[in-house]
Amino acid sequence: MIPVTTFKGKTAALFGLGGSGLATALALAAGGAKVVAWDDNPASVENAAAAGIATGDLRALDWATVDALVLSPGVPLTHPKPHWSAELAHAAGVEVVGDVELFARERRVHAPDSPFIAITGTNGKSTTTALIAHILLSSGRDTQLGGNIGTAVLTLDPPKAGRFHVVECSSYQIDLAPTLDPSVGILLNLTPDHLDRHGTMQHYAGVKERLVAASRTAIVGVDDGFCERIADRIERTGATVVRISKRHPLADGIHAEGTRLLQDRGGAARAIVDLAGIETLRGAHNAQNAAAAIATCLAIGMDEADIRAGLTSFPGLKHRMQPVGRRAEVLFVNDSKATNADAAAPALSSFERIYWIAGGLAKEGGITTLSGFFPKIAKAYLIGEAAETFAGTLRAAVPYVISGTLEQAVRDAAADAERAGGPAAVLLSPACASFDQYKSFEVRGDAFVGHVAALPGVTMLVSADG
Ligand code: ADP
Repeated sequence: MIPVTTFKGKTAALFGLGGSGLATALALAAGGAKVVAWDDNPASVENAAAAGIATGDLRALDWATVDALVLSPGVPLTHPKPHWSAELAHAAGVEVVGDVELFARERRVHAPDSPFIAITGTNGKSTTTALIAHILLSSGRDTQLGGNIGTAVLTLDPPKAGRFHVVECSSYQIDLAPTLDPSVGILLNLTPDHLDRHGTMQHYAGVKERLVAASRTAIVGVDDGFCERIADRIERTGATVVRISKRHPLADGIHAEGTRLLQDRGGAARAIVDLAGIETLRGAHNAQNAAAAIATCLAIGMDEADIRAGLTSFPGLKHRMQPVGRRAEVLFVNDSKATNADAAAPALSSFERIYWIAGGLAKEGGITTLSGFFPKIAKAYLIGEAAETFAGTLRAAVPYVISGTLEQAVRDAAADAERAGGPAAVLLSPACASFDQYKSFEVRGDAFVGHVAALPGVTMLVSADG
């Protein structure tokens, strides 16, 4: 845990006790702050009280005595409208911050030169965060991994010289971190997303820009117009900017050419690594993630051989195009995180001959936007509520069968792929939410792994429970 000493003797009101909220309350209390915590959910309040945290309805507080409102990133700060606790804080002139801000302040006070790598972007945050942490760890460096990826940042070990903190930041967390100052900041890409919570694309992009603008070294993916302009703006301030591209060579930076990643310097390009054969880093989107990781590791002075070794041994993230088993030339891939058509596109673009398991609880628009990939789909295995609708879209273009359940779909797809012979992927990339048949995409992905493990003759690449 990282005790929040910067609030010693001060009063923090805290709203939002799900997820990271309780950990933040405990870290504040451990550092000597007076904490009053609250949540709309009585069970969360009870839970915090049982953990020894003082709880109370923040509407009843004397806000003149409060030094900060600590808000959980799940609670709206601005859009669609500020949460009532944020309105109370604003009215009283009290600052509103989140756990990543508290982390940044602790680091500045106790270990300002400790390496702090922060990652944001619309897509690929978790993969890039995990990849960087993996490369650092496998080179023997003291490494802490957390933030939006799942481990609350204040539950990590404290910053100290030589210890790397690799922290995934959502736009909400950046919004709540006004003095965020990573030593290396990464902005992967920007496409419209979460605009319900950020109002406009300009506001959303502006929030993300802050992370890299305040970094000692800014690494920016320049394959979209928003990020391109952000890189230019930061460079004009005199800061160090490293550009990355999955599409084209750069004057200086790291770019991808197919599976090869090259370093550009003064117009000349030099190969650093070839991702061909690294199953966990397939596809152009992963070339972007790998380019960001390489740029980061070079910026902190790592050996290229160590970087290559880390990339090669990356185990991948669960449920995101994760290779889970192999039988002869057939690879079984768990992409259960793909809960809508857009999210399924990278996986469908990354394999050549696909036995596609899709369906679940359909989202608006179905799979019509994926028609460009249909020629690569040898056959589709449809499950869940969306099966009939998806069948209607595939009808003339792709052979399909309504398998109904995931278990049946795995058996059907594996048998067809084996019969046909040759290299192929049996891919669960459902383009649907899971809630008609599973509690979450994680449970659905784990079930897929279990069904693959039950097939005869399969070599598992992960443990049978995922
Ligand atoms: P995030 O943490 O930003 O949600 P993840 O790393 O969890 O992103 O990846 C989620 C999905 O997004 C992946 O399964 C893949 O389909 C897609 N994806 C990953 N990296 C990228 C990228 N750089 N650009 C576009 N899509 C990506």
